Amino acid sequence: MKQVYFTVGPSQLYPTVGKHVRRALVEQIPSISHRSQQFKEIYANTVNMLRLLLAIPETHQVFFLSSANEAWERILQNCVETSSFHLVNGAFSRKFYEFGLALGKQSSKYEVPNSSGFSIASIEIPEKTELICTTHNETSTGVMTDMRTIVGLKKMHPDILLTVDVVSSVPYVRVDFSVIDIAFFSVQKGFGLPAGLGVLVANQKAIAKSIKMAKKGISVGSYHTFANLEKYGLKNQTSETPNVLAIYLLGLVCQDMLDYGIDRIRQESEYKAALLYDYFGNHRDFKVAVRTPDWRSVTTVAVNTPKGSEMVIKRLKKAGFVVGAGYGELKLSQVRLANFPAHSINQVKRLLSAFAE
Ligand SMILES: *Cc1c(COP(=O)(O)O)cnc(C)c1O
Repeated sequence: MKQVYFTVGPSQLYPTVGKHVRRALVEQIPSISHRSQQFKEIYANTVNMLRLLLAIPETHQVFFLSSANEAWERILQNCVETSSFHLVNGAFSRKFYEFGLALGKQSSKYEVPNSSGFSIASIEIPEKTELICTTHNETSTGVMTDMRTIVGLKKMHPDILLTVDVVSSVPYVRVDFSVIDIAFFSVQKGFGLPAGLGVLVANQKAIAKSIKMAKKGISVGSYHTFANLEKYGLKNQTSETPNVLAIYLLGLVCQDMLDYGIDRIRQESEYKAALLYDYFGNHRDFKVAVRTPDWRSVTTVAVNTPKGSEMVIKRLKKAGFVVGAGYGELKLSQVRLANFPAHSINQVKRLLSAFAE
């Protein structure tokens, strides 16, 4: 039986992906040179579509990486000489912090318990911080930080660079690029595409910081220094042989989402989230894992399963739905449900009926 993937990534493919993959094969996209005019046009189109969909202004450049993991590393390498500061409330934001330590930076963190959000008043930024690292949607626990908190943090510290991980909340989230310096994501979550492509959006301040560090003789990496990304990006190219197929597909899926309407996607995301939270909020056995309603993620719904997650996952699989287990130590006591644009209202309703049986 064909399954509907409600896993948080990789996840259900956006409905038009199959059609685009078939067309890509007919057009022999995977064989074209990454130095060809045809590729440059694909690159330019995808960047343009991302700009339209996510309202990315000309102040920011759009670069292609291999994953969000790579984005963590590149951002730290290119923007932090010594000190990064991280908001940590789960496994993904913690990993970003640990990448800083692994790269030999003096990374510090403000940590709250998993399943908790942040209140801006209690966050103190250490003095020498060069980069504030935030995670909009902590996919491991289903906590979404209000974008106003992240924007507010930057406004309180306008001279410090700020980056936001929006991996599991794009395209639902609205990133205020008039304030945010760097945002990044990969495409196997909200865009409903195969994994293997990361997108980094950075402004001139971030690029300038990298160039300044390199001039001082500090290593900012090799092929994906911000200067190199910019140099090739201006030619609609990448320095390495990139995932051409993925860049091609991303442009087409962005176009489809624009045609469908990004506001409609956002409204439907909230509607589906309300269906999910209403159902689990009133359930006899299952419980919404994030207690505080303001912290509940629209795109990642974590549900406690007091009688264990394994049976629930197995039972749903039989009904045609793949749902994710909890992350790490929550594996056996929680399930996580993705709520991405690829998931229709009807599929969510059918999923809930399957839960009810
Ligand atoms: C999935 C995820 C990542 C990692 O993405 P990769 O593409 O596997 O590198 C990073 N941050 C968040 C919030 C995620 O959900």
